[in-house]
Amino acid sequence: MSPDESVGVAIIGLGRYALAQIMPAFAAARGCHIAALVSGNAGKAKRVAAAYGLDEDRIYNYENFGDIASDDRVDAVYIILPTGLHADWAEKAFAAEKHVLCEKPMALSATECERMIAASERAGRKLMIGYRCHFEPYNLRAMELMREKALGDLRLIRTAHQYRTGMATPAENWRLNRALAGGGPLEDYGLYGLQASLYLTGETPESLSAYTLQPKNDPRFQEIFAHASTQLRFPSGAVAQLATSYDSFGMNAVSARGAKGALVMEPATSYSGNAMVLQTYGARETLTPGTSSVQFAQQLSHFAKAVRENAVIRTPGEMGLRDIRLIEAIYKAAASGRTLALNADATLKD
Ligand code: NAD
Repeated sequence: MSPDESVGVAIIGLGRYALAQIMPAFAAARGCHIAALVSGNAGKAKRVAAAYGLDEDRIYNYENFGDIASDDRVDAVYIILPTGLHADWAEKAFAAEKHVLCEKPMALSATECERMIAASERAGRKLMIGYRCHFEPYNLRAMELMREKALGDLRLIRTAHQYRTGMATPAENWRLNRALAGGGPLEDYGLYGLQASLYLTGETPESLSAYTLQPKNDPRFQEIFAHASTQLRFPSGAVAQLATSYDSFGMNAVSARGAKGALVMEPATSYSGNAMVLQTYGARETLTPGTSSVQFAQQLSHFAKAVRENAVIRTPGEMGLRDIRLIEAIYKAAASGRTLALNADATLKD
């Protein structure tokens, strides 16, 4: 592929995820390359540009970002900023006529997600959400097994995504800050469990109930919830129980059970080293469908191909919007103490 055909991507936000996972993955991705950096920290941007062999005229900051519109070396942007900034930066990128890959969660509210989708449509540019598990071999194999009905009819999904966050205040850690992170672990780590329940059932829930916990005397939880647990009921009759927490001993697990067997994944949605056991009556098999860490490069390759060939995106803005609608419904159910009924597009009934 000639450099002209390779999609040039500007990275917006040089934080931990961008530096440690996404930028190194470009080396193994097909059809795209890092074309520019956008950062509020000039010194860091220079150091990162040097490490990636990028000339300094490829560095933008949050003030001169608009100039990127006339930079033909940049076809797309990858937004890797705190969640509360995703919608505004997606709109700026679409105004500059660039395609957008945006980290999960898509945004803070369904209204913001709808704004992003509308901006993408106005610009005629792609919008993809960074749901990396849709490109990870263990989760892909799990989806396949569910489609093949390897467990019989699916009855119960359980997910746990939890860890204990360090002592900090909302001013010190954006993940504890409602304006930047939303309600807490559910949007962040817990979103993996919610997503797994949706891609394993292949359904959208018809009703849900939830509990949240916010110990406000803890400086970490002045603005966000420490814990959320949710029960989803799907049209097929399958039920999912999701637990997520920023204040309990670490766990990353997904299990699915049907009449004929169980699939147990632990860790289920990690960057690397996921594990999976398939149990049926009389058999227990450890499955090793691939190397988990390819997910980052595969996600980038998929985005690049969709941009180059104007192809359908596996994890589009509409998927991000559906999930944020569900998260809003979960918080509403927890606040009201009621079971809420949902339409097929995850909006609330009545
Ligand atoms: P981080 O705190 O390490 O990085 C955030 C970056 O945004 C920093 O470079 C920071 O300087 C910059 N920034 C700009 N304006 C800011 C502001 N007002 N407040 C705070 N920071 C600001 O965070 P991260 O872990 O890299 O997360 C960034 C995004 O990536 C989030 O959307 C997060 O949900 C997502 N993420 C996804 C995964 C995944 O597995 N898909 C993993 C981690 C993070």
